[in-house]
Amino acid sequence: MKEEGELRAAVLHGPGDLRLEEVEKPIIGGGEVLIKVKFCGICGTDPHIYTGEFPIPRVPIIPGHEFAGEVVEIGREVATVREGAHVIADINMGCGKCYFCRTNQKLLCPELKQIGVHVNGAFAEYVKVPESQIYSLPDAVKLEHASMIEPLACAISGVEKSEVKPGSSMVILGGGPMGLLLLQIAKLRGASPVILSEVVDYRREKAKELGADIVVNPKEDDLYKVVREVTDGRGADVAIEAIGNLTTYKQAFTVVRKGGCIVAFGAAPADGTIDVSPFEIYSRELTIRASYAGTYHTWPEAISLLLWDMVRLDPLITHKLPLESIHKGYEMIKEKKHKALKILVSPEL
Ligand code: ZN
Repeated sequence: MKEEGELRAAVLHGPGDLRLEEVEKPIIGGGEVLIKVKFCGICGTDPHIYTGEFPIPRVPIIPGHEFAGEVVEIGREVATVREGAHVIADINMGCGKCYFCRTNQKLLCPELKQIGVHVNGAFAEYVKVPESQIYSLPDAVKLEHASMIEPLACAISGVEKSEVKPGSSMVILGGGPMGLLLLQIAKLRGASPVILSEVVDYRREKAKELGADIVVNPKEDDLYKVVREVTDGRGADVAIEAIGNLTTYKQAFTVVRKGGCIVAFGAAPADGTIDVSPFEIYSRELTIRASYAGTYHTWPEAISLLLWDMVRLDPLITHKLPLESIHKGYEMIKEKKHKALKILVSPEL
C-alpha cells in the first residue's frame, strides 16, 4: 500500500537483487530540484550493475541514469530552473575542489558521484538532482528522445576523443545503441568510410539504415581484410571499441593503421585484461585514448542535435516498458531474439 510521501522505485540491494518497492520520496535541499521521471533508458551497463560485474560502491541504491522528466518542486535557493520545466541532468557530479575538477576533468575526480550509480537514480517515480546539474529543454524536444541525451553526450565525447575529421576512416566495433550513436556522430563529423562491425544481424541492418558505409559480420567476413581493402592497405585512422568485450578490444589493435588512434569506449569487465605489445604501440606510433562518459559541453551539444533533428533516435528506441517490468527489460537486452536496442522504462506506463 502506497502512503503519502512514498514513491515506487526499483531498488538494488545487492548482486541480482533488484526489488520494486515503495520508498520515501526524496526531500530536496535548498539547491536541489525534484523531477518527476517520464522516461529512463536502460543502459548497457545497468544489467552489469545488477549482476555485480560493474562494481558500484554502495547498496541499496536506485539505479537509472538515462532520464528525462518534469520539474515538480524546486529548493529555496534554486534560481535557474522553474517548476514545470522539462529537464535532463548531467549525471556526473565532481567535488568541485580537487585538481581534476579544477582542470576541466571532473570525470576523474576521486569523489565523482554519478546519479544512478553512486546516488539514487531514476528507475523511480521521482529523482532529486542539484540545480547545477540540470539542463532545461526547449519545448520541441520530446522527453522520450531527451532520455537519450546522456548516451548521446557519451557518444559525442567518444567521437571527439577520436579526433576524426572529414575523410577519416573509422571502424566502430559494436552496433548496440552506443555503436549506433557513435556512428551518427562520426558521420556528422564527416568520417568516411565508417565501417561498423557487429555479429548480430538486426544491429547491422540498423547500422546500414543509420548511415554506416560498410557493415561487417566478423563471424562471416574477415574484418581485418575488409578494412584494409578500403584503406589502401593501411588500416583505419580510428578504431573505437563500443562493446566492452576483450575480443573486440584486441581487434581494435589489428584494424587501426600505423599512427592511428584507438578509443576505449566500451566498459570492459573490471577484472578483464588483454595482452598488448608495448613494442607494437611504440613502433606503430599508436595513440590510445579513452572516453568514460559525456561531460561539460557534450550535454548542450547533445540537446542541440536533438532540437535541430541531426540524429535519429526513433530507430534506436525499440521498446517502452512500465517501471514494473524492469527485470524483463534487463533480460530483453541480453536475449537478442527481442531485437532490442534502447529500452525505455517509464513509471507512467
Ligand atoms: Zn573533484
